[in-house]
Amino acid sequence: GHNALNYQSKTILSKRQMKDAENYLPGGVTANIKYFAPYPIVMKKGKGAWLTDVDGNSYVDYLMGYGALALGHGHSRMNDAITEQLNQDGTHLFGTPHLKEVEFAKKIQQYYPSIKKLRYTNSGTEATQLAIRIAKVFTKKKKIAKFEGHYHGGFKEVLYSINPPLTEAGAIDRPIAVPESAGVEVDGLEPFILPFNDVEGVEKIISQSHQEIAAVLIEPVQAGFILAEQAFMDKLRELTLKYGIILIFDEIKTGFRIALGGAQELYRIDPDITTLGKIIGGGFPIGLVGGREDIMEVSSPKRGFDVFEAGVDGKETAKDVLFHSGTYNGHPTILAAGLATIQELEVSFPQIVNYTMELRKRIEEVGLKSGIPIRTYGAGTVFNVVWNEEKKLRHYRDLLQSNTMKRKELDFELLQLGVYTKPLNRYSISAAHGDKELDHTISAYENVCYCFKE
Ligand code: PLP
Repeated sequence: GHNALNYQSKTILSKRQMKDAENYLPGGVTANIKYFAPYPIVMKKGKGAWLTDVDGNSYVDYLMGYGALALGHGHSRMNDAITEQLNQDGTHLFGTPHLKEVEFAKKIQQYYPSIKKLRYTNSGTEATQLAIRIAKVFTKKKKIAKFEGHYHGGFKEVLYSINPPLTEAGAIDRPIAVPESAGVEVDGLEPFILPFNDVEGVEKIISQSHQEIAAVLIEPVQAGFILAEQAFMDKLRELTLKYGIILIFDEIKTGFRIALGGAQELYRIDPDITTLGKIIGGGFPIGLVGGREDIMEVSSPKRGFDVFEAGVDGKETAKDVLFHSGTYNGHPTILAAGLATIQELEVSFPQIVNYTMELRKRIEEVGLKSGIPIRTYGAGTVFNVVWNEEKKLRHYRDLLQSNTMKRKELDFELLQLGVYTKPLNRYSISAAHGDKELDHTISAYENVCYCFKE
């Protein structure tokens, strides 16, 4: 049978390595999300859809760099694009404007027509941070609203009510802002917390507080698998327009996954601002903020200057221009990797969706036949497996009702049979997943689910 001891006996070198890592890194990790108890598996190599750990175990990878890898590990088309960039044009191009910045922007606009102008950042976190700054400057309002259960990056303004305990979270239609980190307080500047998929709850809060709300920030598909309802999204668009609130779609996770054109393609809604990240960098650090021309123009350094005045006396931007800079913004090597990724996705996206649908169908079949109540939720090339008796999953509080202990047990058993995702994490599929990976995954599921039953 399978048990926790097996985990430890199969991952002896991971355990040893994590012990050493703790001497150098807080908790042994470089990001808190990398940690899980008793200790995470230390990986050594990724190739295609597979990971190999330091003990030599191999796994079909469904974490895919938290969804950042659309083509799998080390895809040749992307590797070639990077090599060509490095060999022919150089690593970083001197911090000047360069051709790929516009070539890439045109490609993004092809799939995200709501993005009329854009700026690059170096991570998703930086992108949502910039989007919020832009919205505040544009509307001259001071606060934002976000949804309970939604993640937008690692900074104070949004580190509220991502995973709050129900005892502290307030009424279901009027959630309270709960800090998610040390150093984050309820200090009057915390965001309004909105209930996802609750038209009336949202309408109440927005109509009462719209004079303070610069922007509503939303993951249109929460964490890549809890879908907003169409009527809810339509109403949110209507309300934000009515009250002069900027609607920001955080598509860092959903971009090029829910559809090539992200959740906005699925819902046929144009947000005012979109943030993208993950896939668009081909596995390298990137983010971008794009949207309505009049809004994005608040960061134009040409505003407020005569043509020859800019740059004189060290004055690079006027006071009323939103300052946005970054040594690595629009990094050409990363844009080369991202462009190659998107071009390859244009070919392989339907096939990745097919794999995803087939995998979801077969996981649910195994669940049904073995009497284990697992269901999949998601869209496009991303989904999650939820252990719940109920058939509905509409928001964070529904997710809390599911059996996360059992799901975690399932994850640990699957790990030992060579199917990798971080416990409780969603499944992201890549172009490298094929028949071999599908069969391997399903037989692992069969093995575990029939075992659970006995
Ligand atoms: N927003 C969403 C929806 C995300 O999924 C993430 C990353 O997981 C972020 C923002 C933050 O992006 P990054 O980790 O690149 O800073």
